[in-house]
Amino acid sequence: MKHNPRVLLTRLLPSAATVLLEKYVVLEINTENRVMTKKEVLKKIGDKDGLICLLTDTIDAGIIEAGENLKIIANYAVGYDNIDVIEATKRKIPVTNTPGVLTETTADLTFALLLSVARRIVEADGFVRDDKFKGWEPTLLLGSDVHEKTIGIIGFGRIGRAVARRARGFNMRIIYYELKRLSLEVEKAHCAEYRDLDDLLREADFISLHVPLTESTYHLIGERELLLMKKTAYVINTSRGPILDEKALVRALRTKEIAGCALDVFEREPEVEGALLTMPNAILVPHIGSASIESRMKMAKMVAENVIAALIKKTRPPNIVNPAIYE
Ligand code: NAD
Repeated sequence: MKHNPRVLLTRLLPSAATVLLEKYVVLEINTENRVMTKKEVLKKIGDKDGLICLLTDTIDAGIIEAGENLKIIANYAVGYDNIDVIEATKRKIPVTNTPGVLTETTADLTFALLLSVARRIVEADGFVRDDKFKGWEPTLLLGSDVHEKTIGIIGFGRIGRAVARRARGFNMRIIYYELKRLSLEVEKAHCAEYRDLDDLLREADFISLHVPLTESTYHLIGERELLLMKKTAYVINTSRGPILDEKALVRALRTKEIAGCALDVFEREPEVEGALLTMPNAILVPHIGSASIESRMKMAKMVAENVIAALIKKTRPPNIVNPAIYE
């Protein structure tokens, strides 16, 4: 008798994924509200045809090797630095992500952070709650303008461009840095000018990071880069924590080399560099870039469709990140 494929889901996802998947596959779900340990994943992966994982799961060569029947690894995120894609490719296992559906949501959060750090929204909210508001004052909580300032976008892909679209609404000057300069058409469509990294860092009032985490982007922004920034500039990170050297960031904030930062992601999540917690010019949120009900539902559906393509339709999953396995 033929069995439905078995799939391990490392954490409960919105029902858009499970309702769809349960029609076709036997799901084993970690229903505990925590990340599975490596030991737990290793114990369960051996007889699974598919693995649905999160960015908080490290899917290394050991897990991939133990998953000897795996025919798909579907990540519930657009970034996939948590998966050893090289090992999966070696074993001809497709790896998928959830691009596009969270672009606008993540760009919304980026802009919310940018505005919040510039206009000191978190401090101002605390001020009112602490009953310190005694009336309008000429110099109370002065921040920095956003409109007509220069935004420097590092990584001009889906999210970077969505941030640029928002920046245009604020009449900002847009400069970007990419692996290589983009076409004039793309630049014109986004009113964006190319700069090399150092020039971007020197010119921008707001620097926003939108590159994936790879070997070449690890600590892309470190001590040297922070020193190039204007003393009045802010850095916003909604990409991945290790792209920004957190210790160097703390030093730059302490010595007032830069004006502030707003972070959705951290170098050693969920740990946060202690000093940041006491700095009023650092806004810190817990990796909520894609955290809207709408986007999480769309991501869940996308994950399910990738799994169904690989295990049921036996076709190339729509959001494959290692298409080389089919060559
Ligand atoms: P994308 O692939 O569309 O864009 C990334 C861009 O970065 C590409 O244009 C690429 O050419 C460029 N790039 C890569 N390496 C570079 C380098 N060394 N220097 C300069 N540019 C480089 O990806 P996206 O959908 O825009 O997502 C970007 C990243 O944002 C993801 O990889 C993910 O890690 C992160 N992300 C975070 C959240 C969150 O919750 N905070 C949500 C979604 C995505």
